[in-house]
Amino acid sequence: MSKKILLVEDEPGLVLTLGDCLADEGYTVTVAQDGETGLHKAKEEAFDLLILDVMLPRKNGFDVLRDLRQFGVKTPAIMLTARGQVIDKILGLKLGADDYLTKPFDMGELLARIEAILRRTPQPDQTSAEVYTFGDVRVDYRRAEVTRNGQPVELAAREYHLLRYLIEHREATISRDELLNEVWGYDAMPTTRTVDVHVGLLRQKLEPNPRHPQFILTIHGLGYKFVG
Ligand code: CA
Repeated sequence: MSKKILLVEDEPGLVLTLGDCLADEGYTVTVAQDGETGLHKAKEEAFDLLILDVMLPRKNGFDVLRDLRQFGVKTPAIMLTARGQVIDKILGLKLGADDYLTKPFDMGELLARIEAILRRTPQPDQTSAEVYTFGDVRVDYRRAEVTRNGQPVELAAREYHLLRYLIEHREATISRDELLNEVWGYDAMPTTRTVDVHVGLLRQKLEPNPRHPQFILTIHGLGYKFVG
């Protein structure tokens, strides 16, 4: 299965060279040419790796990474820094970058770093702490994948993050406002009705009987509670 890489880089020449080179190595490459677009794509789709330039239009690479980590996206990231950005390097690692490369870099070096990171990214079955199961549902945090009876369940990014938040706060009653703040925080203006719609979608996809949910419970007048 081809590994998916999101390349966030604004220099057209580098995009072209890197894109070709990664594709030749068998990776599936998606390109974003500014920070905002990169952030959006990384939130909406599960990638195996991010290659993130620091100096980007609209949103710099650090801010993209910080926002992603706050959003709960743990995709490993390699940051591309300009020569001499030592402080940047430290900041990047603090923010949760897995590696960095200083431009200009050798393509072989980048490929080696990519392989190293993908190799040490644990596969689902080796990391029980990264997996949560309830009923016949299995949630793989590391890969951001959900299966039911072994069959993949297609969840939109928002549904996935909602599910994750519910699981992480299981047994607690969570208000719609809290869910809006924590799960929707960055994309302003949804209403509490949005939460209900997404809870409904999750139930449709994950509950044995969506009309009588046994995992994602409605606590009348208060919000929702995950039990499982
Ligand atoms: Ca740049």
